[in-house]
Amino acid sequence: MEGSEELRETLVEMRREIDILRTETTHANLLLTALDAVLCVDGDHDPFAGVFSALMPVFEYSCAIVLTESSDDTLECVASSHPSIVGSGWKIGKLFSKALSGRIVTTVSDAAVSEWPGDLGIGFSEAQPALYLPLGVRNRRGLMMLLRDPQQPGFDRTHVSLARKFSLLASHALAAKRANQTEAESYRLQHLTEQLRASQEAFQFRANHDQLTGLPNRTYVQELVDNLIAGKSTKAACAFIDLDDFKRVNDLHGHAIGDALLRGIAQRIKSEIRATDIFGRISGDEFVIVLNPIEKRSDASALISRLRNRLKRPFKIEGVEIRTSASIGVAFYPAHGRDYDTLRRHADMAMYRAKTSAKGGIAFFNQALGREAADKLSLEHRLRTSLTKREFHCALQQKVDICSRTIMGFETLVRWIDGSGVTRSPAEFLPLASELGLLDSITNVMVDELIKQMPGLDRRFGTDVKYSINISAAQSMKTPFMHKLVQHLSDAGRAGRFILELTEESFATTGPFQTHVLPMLREAGVAISIDDFGTGYSSLAKLAELTVDELKIDRSLISSIQQRPRSQSILRAIESLGAALGISVVAEGIETADENDYLIGQTHLRIGQGFLFHRPELLSDLLNHREPGELEHHPSPSLQACNDDRAGSIRQKRALRV
Ligand code: C2E
Ligand code: MG
Ligand code: MG
Repeated sequence: MEGSEELRETLVEMRREIDILRTETTHANLLLTALDAVLCVDGDHDPFAGVFSALMPVFEYSCAIVLTESSDDTLECVASSHPSIVGSGWKIGKLFSKALSGRIVTTVSDAAVSEWPGDLGIGFSEAQPALYLPLGVRNRRGLMMLLRDPQQPGFDRTHVSLARKFSLLASHALAAKRANQTEAESYRLQHLTEQLRASQEAFQFRANHDQLTGLPNRTYVQELVDNLIAGKSTKAACAFIDLDDFKRVNDLHGHAIGDALLRGIAQRIKSEIRATDIFGRISGDEFVIVLNPIEKRSDASALISRLRNRLKRPFKIEGVEIRTSASIGVAFYPAHGRDYDTLRRHADMAMYRAKTSAKGGIAFFNQALGREAADKLSLEHRLRTSLTKREFHCALQQKVDICSRTIMGFETLVRWIDGSGVTRSPAEFLPLASELGLLDSITNVMVDELIKQMPGLDRRFGTDVKYSINISAAQSMKTPFMHKLVQHLSDAGRAGRFILELTEESFATTGPFQTHVLPMLREAGVAISIDDFGTGYSSLAKLAELTVDELKIDRSLISSIQQRPRSQSILRAIESLGAALGISVVAEGIETADENDYLIGQTHLRIGQGFLFHRPELLSDLLNHREPGELEHHPSPSLQACNDDRAGSIRQKRALRV
C-alpha cells in the first residue's frame, strides 16, 4: 500500500514537471514563430509591422506601440498597430524609465496614464492592462507597449517571463534589420535562433520522455499508441509489465541501484523488441510495450515469454548481483480494446492476475477478468460509501486461559455490515481496502468504537483484560498513522490496555517501524504481539532480537496438532524459545477438544483462542446479550494438567503483563 502511495506521488510529480515543460515548449514555439516573422520581413517593409503581427498571438493585445528615445526626456512613437499615433511624442516618466533600463513592467489600470500624451484619438482608457518590454535598438533605447482592452485580464507572470525572452531576441532581430543584416549580426541572430530551436527540441524531448531511462513517458506512449491505432487497423498486442518487489530492491540496495536496475531492464527489453514496437515507462516500476504489428497472438506470446525469461537473468550492478522478475499482462488490439486507455487497463488487469498467481508470470486478458474487475470496482464503490457511513464494526473474540477458560483478553476483528445488512468478514474486503488505502480509516473507526465502549466492557469483563488490535505491516510502517493511533489510545488513558498484533513482515526490514514506531509503542506502554507466527518468515533467530510481548501461533500449526508429530516438534521449539525470552505464547484457532487437550497435556502453553471457546461476536451484541456469568465453561479432561502447571501459566501471564 505504501508502495502504491509512493508511486502516486511520483506520478503527480512527473505530471507537474511535464505540464511545466509543455508550457515552456509552447512558449518557445511562439517565440520561434515570432522571430521567424521578424526575420522574414523583407527590406521594403517596416520590421515593426512584422514584430506586431508575430506578437499578436503570443500576447493577445489590442494595441501595440514602439517608442524609442528621441531626446533626453522624450520618446517618439516609431511604430504602432494604430498608425495614426506614429510620430507622437511621449514624456519619459518613472514607468518608462524603468522599462528603458531593461525591466519588464506590467500594469493593470491607470498607473502609466500620466506618462501618456494627451488625447491621441484612439480611445485609451485608464483601466487598460499594459505590458512594457524593453527594446534595445542598436545605440538607441526603446520600449514596446502592449495594451489590452479594459475588460480583458491583465498580463501575468507567464507573459512577463515570455516578454523577457522576446525582448532580448526581438532587440537583436530589430538591430539586425536596421543594420541591413550585417553579416555579424545576422550570424548572431542565426545562432540565437538555432539555440532556441535546440532548446525547444530538448524541451519537447524532456516533456515526452522519462529522464531515467530515456523511454517515452506515460503521456507520450498514449499519444504514440493513439496515433498508431488511428492510422491503421493492424493487429497489435499491449503488454503491461510490472516489476516484482521492486520496492525491496530500493530498500535493500538503495535508490541508485534501483535506478540502475530500471535502466538495465529498459535496455534489455529494448534489445528484444522491434523498431516498430512502442515501448515506454509509465510509472516507477511499470512499463508498457505495444507490439505492432503482430500476425497472430502466438507471436506476441513467444516474444513476451522470451522477454520475461531475459528479465529473470541476474543483473550485475556496481558489483552487486540483483535478481528480479516481472509480472506481465497482455491485451490484444482490437479484440480487447480499440483505444490505448482500454487496452492498457485490460493489460493491467491481466498483469494483476499474473502477479497474484505467481510472481514472474504472464497472463492474458479475457472477458472473465473484465467481469472480475467490474465486481472489484463495485466493491470499491460500496467500501467507500460504507466508510463514510461508518458501517465497519468491531467483533471481539476471547483469548482465554485454556484450562480455566478465564478471559484474559479480546482480539478486535473487523466486520463490515453493508447496506443490505449482510455481515462480511475481513477476507472479503480487507485486501482491496488495503490496496485502496482505506485500511487506516477502517482501523480508526474500530478503535473509536472500542474506546467508546470500554467503560461498558470494563463493567462486564473487568479492567484486567487486554484488547488486541490488528495492524497490517504496511500500516505499522507509517509513522504518522501509528503516532496518531498511539496518541488516541494514550488520550483515552488506556494505552496499557492494548496489544497491537503485527505480522512478522513488520519486523523483517529495518525501516521506520523498527526505528520510530517500536520505540514510540514502548514508551506509550502498548504491548506488541506477533500474529500468525509460523506463516511468515518464522525466523527463530530473528525472534531472539525482538522485544515483543506475545507470539500468536497460527492456526495452521495448531490444527489437529495431536496427530502431527512434526508440528508438535516445531511447537515445542517455539514454546521453549518463548519461555526463554519471556514472551507469552498464544495458540490460535483451537477448534476441538482434542487439540486443546493435547496443548494442556503435552505443552506448557496456557493461553489460547479459538472457536472451541468463543466465536468472534459483534461488540454491541457482546454488551447487549451476554451476562458475565453466562460465559461458557467446558470442563476439560486435562484440567488436572492445568493445575499441575500453574507456575508455567503464571510465568506466561507475567510476560504478557496481564
Ligand atoms: P487473525 O488476526 O489471525 O485473526 C484470527 C482469525 O481467525 C479471525 O478471522 C478469527 O475469526 C479466526 N478464528 C479464530 N478462532 C478460530 C478457529 O478456531 N477456527 C477458525 N477456522 N478460525 C478462527 P477473521 O475475523 O476472519 O480475520 C481474519 C484476519 O483478518 C485476521 O486474522 C487478521 O489478520 C485480519 N483482520 C481482522 N480484523 C482486522 C483489522 O481490523 N485490521 C487488520 N489489519 N486486519 C484484520
Ligand atoms: Mg490477529
Ligand atoms: Mg492470527
